[in-house]
Amino acid sequence: MQHRIVVLGAGYTGAVAAGRLAKRLHREDVAITLVNAEPDFVERVRMHQVATGQDLKPRPFSEMFAGTGVEVRLAQVTGVDVDRKTVAVIDANGAGQLPYDTLVYALGSRWNAQGVPGTAEHAHEIASRPGALRLRERLARLDAGQSVVVVGGGLTGVEAATEIAEARPDLDVALAARDGLGDWLSPKGREHLRKVFGKLGITAYEHAAVTGVEADRVTTADGTAIPAAVTVWTAGFAVHPIAKATALEVTGSGQIVVDGTMRSVSHPDVYAIGDAAMVMGPGDKPLRMSCASGTPTAWQAADAIAARLTGGKLPNVSIRYFNQCISLGRKEGLIQYVTADDRAVQAVLTGRLAAVYKELICKSAAWGVANPTLGLPTRRRRVTWERAAAGSAVKASA
Ligand SMILES: Cc1cc2nc3c(=O)[nH]c(=O)nc-3n(C[C@H](O)[C@H](O)[C@H](O)COP(=O)(O)OP(=O)(O)OC[C@H]3O[C@@H](n4cnc5c(N)ncnc54)[C@H](O)[C@@H]3O)c2cc1C
Repeated sequence: MQHRIVVLGAGYTGAVAAGRLAKRLHREDVAITLVNAEPDFVERVRMHQVATGQDLKPRPFSEMFAGTGVEVRLAQVTGVDVDRKTVAVIDANGAGQLPYDTLVYALGSRWNAQGVPGTAEHAHEIASRPGALRLRERLARLDAGQSVVVVGGGLTGVEAATEIAEARPDLDVALAARDGLGDWLSPKGREHLRKVFGKLGITAYEHAAVTGVEADRVTTADGTAIPAAVTVWTAGFAVHPIAKATALEVTGSGQIVVDGTMRSVSHPDVYAIGDAAMVMGPGDKPLRMSCASGTPTAWQAADAIAARLTGGKLPNVSIRYFNQCISLGRKEGLIQYVTADDRAVQAVLTGRLAAVYKELICKSAAWGVANPTLGLPTRRRRVTWERAAAGSAVKASA
């Protein structure tokens, strides 16, 4: 008898959860399947680097999970039936069904055109690797002096604009932000961001809500037309519509509502983590979509599943923010220290040291995927079958 755990999505959170489960549970007792659409791990936090022509180290799942007991299944998830406890997939052999006893939903998010006219047709995105590669190819064809407008003044927009301006100083790079540039940062952080924008020659259009995108320009709410041979859209992310199409309780935006152990509040045999989950963080504020807060949700879910299956103590992984690590090209960075609930405090780290720090964070995030217990001892506990059955019993009585 084996308890079937199916993990959907092998991004930062799904891959970590699968690996951690494999280190927590006895191999004879569980079958862990990790389903992902792509054969290798995508370092999503580096997509702006891919867009500017940098090549990342390949990280094939077949190597990362070799010998771990996790079966990696290369397939596109097309649906989940939470009543029949099956996942619909399509792979090279056609359509199929994957039954599960416990499901971990970690399909992440994608870009969000927010219904702005022309965006879907004309804008580029860097939320996915195919999107980043398309932008890379487009940027390579731009001549000196041509314009690039990054829409969105959040972390991704700031990182994309600085990366492009640094890699292509011959281009005319601008950023359009709905609010002021770096409004959420401390005064020192804002000052540093403005300094780097100035050095890199990036024009910041502030309080400029983009209302339309055309092939050669973006238009803002006050009617300003900003020339844009290329528009890069970073204004927000949206979750995949798969969860919303199930009987799971989701938010209006389609994130799965979970409790403190990352378990669905409507279906106890389903867990959701990362961007796909609505998790309340410190100060009763929803966690923002990020690796920084997503990775602890994966630890929490894996440890809670293991505890529930083996009769161990339910974990209470601390999920809080420490800093926002922002790359400003390869040579500059900004580490903004924050409160537990993500509000900027005075302290910042800037310059080359901040760039090195950010690089270490990106490297350790990828390392954490391949080494999911982060130096903790491997403890493979035996499943208690009455407990394994209890999850379904809760559902039946709910
Ligand atoms: C350019 C950029 C820079 C960023 N920088 C930072 C940063 O500096 N710090 C930070 O904390 N966060 C950053 N983020 C956000 C961070 O990348 C996400 O919050 C994080 O990747 C979420 O992890 P996840 O596991 O939920 O989803 P993902 O990492 O997106 O993983 C989802 C996985 O599911 C797979 N998948 C999706 N749909 C299907 C399907 N239908 N079938 C099969 N597989 C599927 C995908 O291929 C992927 O492997 C950045 C994001 C971007 C785009």
